Amino acid sequence: MATTIWFQELFGQWGCLIALALALIINLPIFIWARLKHHLTLWGSIVAGFFGISYWLINPVFYLGLFTFFISSSFLTRYHKSVKEPFLDKFEKGGERDASQVLANGLAGFLFIVGYLLTILFSNNFLISNAFIYGFIAAIGTVNADTWATEIGIVSKDQPYWILNLKKKVERGTSGGVSAKGTAAAFLGSLVIGSLILLVESFWHNPIHSESSWQLLLFIAVAIVCGFLGSIIDSFFGATIQGFFECTVCQKGTEKKTHCSQPTKLIRGSKNFRNDHVNFWSSFIAGLLAFGFGCFAYLL
Ligand SMILES: [Zn+2]
Repeated sequence: MATTIWFQELFGQWGCLIALALALIINLPIFIWARLKHHLTLWGSIVAGFFGISYWLINPVFYLGLFTFFISSSFLTRYHKSVKEPFLDKFEKGGERDASQVLANGLAGFLFIVGYLLTILFSNNFLISNAFIYGFIAAIGTVNADTWATEIGIVSKDQPYWILNLKKKVERGTSGGVSAKGTAAAFLGSLVIGSLILLVESFWHNPIHSESSWQLLLFIAVAIVCGFLGSIIDSFFGATIQGFFECTVCQKGTEKKTHCSQPTKLIRGSKNFRNDHVNFWSSFIAGLLAFGFGCFAYLL
């Protein structure tokens, strides 16, 4: 026998409609705000709305993870905006997030919670459904860590080090650059996601079926570490396979394909592997690590 989904347990036979109505009531004001404040483009907010409602329907615990990421990154992007202005030119995209950025940040987490949903609907295997939750925590942990690291690291006055050679310094805002403050922010970013889910798990409806609170703590701690590792993988990809270009007019390094109204020249990585691909793959790999650990640990 498969488990019933949270809204059926909570609201009975009309649960699905009530949960959907709640999702709309909660999400509409957030997305109107996000549009008015230019945190998201129109298509960005449509994709974010789709993620918001599906995350919520699968379990509000997952929604909380996504919500924390979205709100904290929206505020951090505005944090010390004038200090960031000179470096924004390096990035492919600005502060208003478009559909492909939203996909890059939310898709890996979405895949893990769809895995969770299918597992609880079609089998009673809590080992696997739990492992999907740890995968989800690591995936959202990674994108949160990466955003916190970028937005906080860039306002720090310390010049970052090149991740492939820690003796070499690079310009602030360079993908693949790492700094002490950015790394601490990354760890905190992943820690906040994992801790919030642990907190809600301890007080409310519980999607994680753990045998003991120590076990729960251990697995969430591993997922937090995987989320942090994900942000390191992100920097590593940023320094290697992500396309990096040079302006043929002003010679500045950039992630943009055009600069000073001229096409830029590729100097590193692959021209088709962009920052959005880096974000998706690093969060997906971090999720797989935590998912794998969740499956493997029970086998011992
Ligand atoms: Zn230029």
